[in-house]
Amino acid sequence: MAERYLGLDLGGTNIKVAVIEDVGGDTPKVLHDDKVRTQAAHGPDHVRDRLVDVGRSTAEQFGPFTGAGLGVPGLFDAEAGTIELFPNLPGPWDGYPLRDLVGEGLGIPTNIINDARAFTLAEGTVGAGQGSRFMLGVTLGTGIGGGIMIDGQVHGGAFGTAGEFGHQTVEPDGPLCGCGNRGCLEAVAKGSAIALAAGVKNAEAAYKAAGEGDPAALRATHEALDYLAIGIANVVALVGIDTVVMGGGIMSAGALVLDPLRSAVDERITLVDPAEITILKAALGGKAGAIGAALAGMSTH
Ligand SMILES: [Zn+2]
Repeated sequence: MAERYLGLDLGGTNIKVAVIEDVGGDTPKVLHDDKVRTQAAHGPDHVRDRLVDVGRSTAEQFGPFTGAGLGVPGLFDAEAGTIELFPNLPGPWDGYPLRDLVGEGLGIPTNIINDARAFTLAEGTVGAGQGSRFMLGVTLGTGIGGGIMIDGQVHGGAFGTAGEFGHQTVEPDGPLCGCGNRGCLEAVAKGSAIALAAGVKNAEAAYKAAGEGDPAALRATHEALDYLAIGIANVVALVGIDTVVMGGGIMSAGALVLDPLRSAVDERITLVDPAEITILKAALGGKAGAIGAALAGMSTH
């Protein structure tokens, strides 16, 4: 029987689940996806139990699994598998050995991966970026996440933390970022920054107003897209990626994001032909994180 892998994507509201099957060759098959509530307010032990319970019930239907991957919304010690920072989940998470506790509960080897890196792995392997071996994944949400695929592999770098696209400085004296630095791309281009500058309640509303020609919304969205373009051009220059896959809620604005972003990126790219750089909307929707986690589970052995 072909080997199957479980993916669990831990979010503040939902835990998303995916099952993939290694059918040989480059592209695994996605067999199943689902979600349950995280109930994050109950704290780390409860969230761990939710992860193990949904993993076990998925195994009853689709198992046995050879390995599992756990996608998490924050930073962790890649070697120890312990949590370092979960900005959006309440509770004493610092130092919590989530990877090993979930792995023991499931009884299978379990990997841990940042959710934006899982998004990148999924979109690059079975999603919009399939076929590219050098890809940047970007998630535009409450924050700005990212991941870099080099020669078909998502790279964690020396500390397992590489790909933090949103924490490159793009404005030397810019606003303070949640990470402690000033002028990070995230600090100037995240959804709430766009909404504040446009005078509306969220980034989706800002793009809608921009589409209707509202001057403040047009200014706010174009400024954010100019910063994003700087970030993308930096990655093109440094890493040599040929594909950018963009995900997150505001991508529902489609051409209102992609067209001005395309022009701004073209202006910044000088060393290669800008036409060689493909910028795409993500294809897997909310399932990308769980599928990417399952793909990360394939490298547990
Ligand atoms: Zn930052």
